[in-house]
Amino acid sequence: MPKQLATAVALLVLLIPAAQGADETFDHCVEELRAAAPAKGVSAEVFDRNIRGLQADMSVVASLDYQPEFKTPIWDYLSGLVDDERIADGQAMLDQWAGVLTAVQARYGVDPATVVAVWGVESNFGRNVGKRPILTSLTTLSCFGRRQDYFRSELFTALQIVEHGDVEPARLTGSWAGAFGQTQFMPSTFARVAVDFDGDGRRDLVSSAPDALASTANFLADAGWSPDLPWGFEVALPTGIDDSLIGRRKKRPLAEWAAHGVKRIDGQPLEPATTRAGLILPAGEGGPAFLVTPNFDAIYAYNAAESYALAIAHLSDRLRGGKPFVTRWPTDDPGLSRAERREVQSLLLQRGYAIGEIDGVIGSATRQAIEDVQRQAGLEVDGRAGRRMLELLRAPATKAAPQPAD
Ligand code: CA
Repeated sequence: MPKQLATAVALLVLLIPAAQGADETFDHCVEELRAAAPAKGVSAEVFDRNIRGLQADMSVVASLDYQPEFKTPIWDYLSGLVDDERIADGQAMLDQWAGVLTAVQARYGVDPATVVAVWGVESNFGRNVGKRPILTSLTTLSCFGRRQDYFRSELFTALQIVEHGDVEPARLTGSWAGAFGQTQFMPSTFARVAVDFDGDGRRDLVSSAPDALASTANFLADAGWSPDLPWGFEVALPTGIDDSLIGRRKKRPLAEWAAHGVKRIDGQPLEPATTRAGLILPAGEGGPAFLVTPNFDAIYAYNAAESYALAIAHLSDRLRGGKPFVTRWPTDDPGLSRAERREVQSLLLQRGYAIGEIDGVIGSATRQAIEDVQRQAGLEVDGRAGRRMLELLRAPATKAAPQPAD
């Protein structure tokens, strides 16, 4: 037997028992879940119809522990989420759903631009809801990995949603972790705040835009949204501001910020004086600074990242006709819109890199291609799709020197 083949056979012999072990663990776990189901409000019939016979999807267990080595700079994150395309799409949605959004505002006190901004960031206005069957993901994560108790609870809640007939099981697709539908709620969030707004008796956050818009507003209202507050605004800081003042949670009245020499960048007064706000500098000193109110915290409750909350807050401003930030991000290589990312991908394809579908999402195949282009051009190799990379790719692939940025 050739040595390589012998090695392969030896590997197979090692792998087969491991795989069988995982299958046995999964089967045993599913039986355990089935026994627990009735006490969790899930009938044996619904459990058997939707869970029995499922194959575990071990890729979601890998996602649970995946730490991206590529940390997205905030200017890349924002330029992909708040680009001309999403602003235009959002404005079209504000028109299309004007009646529903007015009724949603009357009921929950959250304005149309904020609700539509969340919708645009979460699911691109209902277009990208995720393709993974969440019952498979949640069952797998209930049986493997380090957060099984949490995912068991989410699985039973998802099955209650099926039991109640809110969403058809086949349409329960979403992220690897089980967030689904136009609002990308986890099942427990759905159970807590989802509402039926179109009046058909089902809380269908997959197929019904009115249900999704109202549920988003209900989430924000539940998280403490105040109809009378802005999320915050960009500010200009005096030189040498005390570092200890910085932090979203370190809220103080606007009058105190004014006394510290902080000004709104648009020249408006810092009012009302008693409104409490915290100071954030998402890219540190030298980048844009913002005073944020408890409404920013309500958005933050949706997904605990300041960059995420800022993307939604800024998109809502842009949907109201607001301008880009006045202060530039501290970089000489700005981020790209989705249209520009698609252009990067199409130029890489033209150069013969097999990067797959042109979707404007800079995944690992696109990053590897960019790394190769960077290596050949003698540049720092970081795989990032920024302004300079786009300009380099636009230049003819021959010996022509890349155009310097700006
Ligand atoms: Ca409904």
